[in-house]
Amino acid sequence: MAVHEGKEYGVGDLVLLDNITDDSVVNNLKLRFSKGRIYSYIGEVVVSVNPYKQVNIYGQDVVQQYKNREFYERPPHIFALADASYKTMRRLNKDTCIVISGESGSGKTEASKIVMRYIAAVTNANQRAEIERVKNILIQSTCILEAFGNAKTNRNDNSSRFGKYMDINFDFKGDPVGGNIENYLLEKSRVVLQHAGERNFHAFYQLLVGGSDKLLSALHLKRDHKSYAYVSHGTAHPVNTINDKQDFQSVGAALNSLGLSTEQTETIWRIVASILHLGNITFTKDGDHVNVANMDRLQSVAKMLHISDKDFKQALLSRTVAARGEVMDKPLTQSEALYARDAFAKAIYERLFTWVVQQINETLRPPANPSASLYGKNTVIGVLDIYGFEIFETNSFEQFCINYCNEKLQQLFIELVLKQEQEEYEREGIHWTPVEYFNNRIICDLVEQQHNGIIALMDEACLNVGKTTDQTFLEAMDKKFFKHGHYTSRQTAQQDKTLAHHREFRIKHYAGDVVYTVDGFLDKNRDPIFQDFKRLLFNSKDSLIRDMWPEGAAHKTTVTKRPLTTATVFKNSMLALVQKLQTKEPHYIRCIKPNEIKSPSQFDEVRVKHQIHYLNITENVRVRRAGFAYRMVYKRFLQRYKLICQKTWPNFPGSDVDGVKAILTEHRLAKDAAFGKTKVFIRSPESVHYLEEARNKK
Ligand code: ATP
Ligand code: MG
Repeated sequence: MAVHEGKEYGVGDLVLLDNITDDSVVNNLKLRFSKGRIYSYIGEVVVSVNPYKQVNIYGQDVVQQYKNREFYERPPHIFALADASYKTMRRLNKDTCIVISGESGSGKTEASKIVMRYIAAVTNANQRAEIERVKNILIQSTCILEAFGNAKTNRNDNSSRFGKYMDINFDFKGDPVGGNIENYLLEKSRVVLQHAGERNFHAFYQLLVGGSDKLLSALHLKRDHKSYAYVSHGTAHPVNTINDKQDFQSVGAALNSLGLSTEQTETIWRIVASILHLGNITFTKDGDHVNVANMDRLQSVAKMLHISDKDFKQALLSRTVAARGEVMDKPLTQSEALYARDAFAKAIYERLFTWVVQQINETLRPPANPSASLYGKNTVIGVLDIYGFEIFETNSFEQFCINYCNEKLQQLFIELVLKQEQEEYEREGIHWTPVEYFNNRIICDLVEQQHNGIIALMDEACLNVGKTTDQTFLEAMDKKFFKHGHYTSRQTAQQDKTLAHHREFRIKHYAGDVVYTVDGFLDKNRDPIFQDFKRLLFNSKDSLIRDMWPEGAAHKTTVTKRPLTTATVFKNSMLALVQKLQTKEPHYIRCIKPNEIKSPSQFDEVRVKHQIHYLNITENVRVRRAGFAYRMVYKRFLQRYKLICQKTWPNFPGSDVDGVKAILTEHRLAKDAAFGKTKVFIRSPESVHYLEEARNKK
């Protein structure tokens, strides 16, 4: 059975559609979905539709079917892509990467796990112990990352609230010897607040549900999550698809497999507990004087973090200001104190997450292998599982960053896919005319350009604390981009009813228009955490916590360097990511969510069409088709179709090229084909259909 399974399954490769429109793409995916075919191709891009049920297509027997095969030899499957990526790496000694995109709940993280399991299944035939260790950690680490970085949202019970790029390093034998994870922009606001129907990060509930009585009592915790403000906003706990108790055990085992000591694991849970207590600290006000309402909570936090009660109280209620060499304590107002408390909680959690990722990286650090150079270099497969394009009712700073990230990836996609196509034609000596394609560089520039982009303006506004507000930042943008084709400002949009709100601006993204509400942009970008808190944690008696906060070492009177803003850190990490991906041979998985209700049978055409549109799928099919719909190495083509031509059946005496030419000539298709150095290129899908049907009739 190959990529063509028969008409009742639609076409396995969207390039073979007769008519390329959003609708025909949707209909084809719908037909395939209804028959349990969740994967389709666009050339070598995999389109995956979330089945929302366990599908029995990932077992060892299926692995064997795809191992060392070519795309078109088997029905579309993510394994084919994983195999292609692995083969390219091994045969050509080239780094490859797998870029997975799609909206929340479309199946990106599951896809990345399937890829990892495939790679684990086809490597280490000799059962080398060190390789087994690496594979084990690669697989186990996902459960740790999900515990601390995933949460139940209204769109996905196990939604990744951070972006992840993971490199897997291979030795010259093609076995995994190490890896490295990079994480991007954790949604830390969730630590202190969740929307209705959502939860905080899984780890909090895992601890409360799964921790032993002894552990909970050591952490001063009650089992009932409702006792803690930070985990009960969303009122969504428990979740029936999640087993927190079991997950707590798995995370413990996984942390153990990283080689963490009992003390280190204990510190992790103490930090998680400290945040739960922190959320319950409230303040009272007596005239101008603000005080802590519940000292017992404060003491619990101090105990968990091994810091002094007194210093902690002071850090919560006041801020050290150094002016003209003098150090003063400036008391905070009640709302400032609440703000500081939340900022503290978010910062501790974020550092913990970063620390956990570092620990995984430590244990996965690939060995410096001097013998590798004798056989060729160590190679890498990178897997990117990152948030898709987001358009909500209200779009804020986070959506702005996420959508910018998608613009960058789209830019890379355009460059790489077009480049790849072009290079293949050149390599094969085939003439073609490049296709027109919307280049979104202009939008990337709008956001990231030095001194002149939105991020630069935002950073400038953040420098002038007290003088600028979200409003003045918006005015500055309006002035600057007033004539920009992809920015709509209040000045230009006075007649525009959709932008009636005076706090909004619109960016025309490649994937559609998004209206952003400017409220909170500056604060989220500045992301202040007072030096007092950093100092406090640096002075913790727990060396691990101390290590997490090295910048707390600065003396009170030193004016510390302003840390980079959130948007700038994010921009820099995106530039670095793109640079890294650029050097690798890319493979793409486009994930699609078939419906909003997690149903295995419903296919919501409107929602799918929307996704097809912003994943640029139809465009992608067009580009792939612009020159030639189909291409195949001569030998394979001859093998596949020799039975439909008298001259070639059962054996052709001449060269493979001549055999292919004989087949195409006999079927009057030669005019529709071009003959490259190693491959035959066929222009229209009808010809391929025709060949397949002729073959089926035999
Ligand atoms: P987010 O952006 O929110 O992290 P995501 O794209 O990573 O979303 P996943 O967490 O991978 O989405 O998938 C959501 C859910 O869909 C999974 O928890 C699982 O129930 C189901 N699912 C996804 N892919 C598959 C699959 N191949 N087989 C079975 N179920 C799947
Ligand atoms: Mg995910």
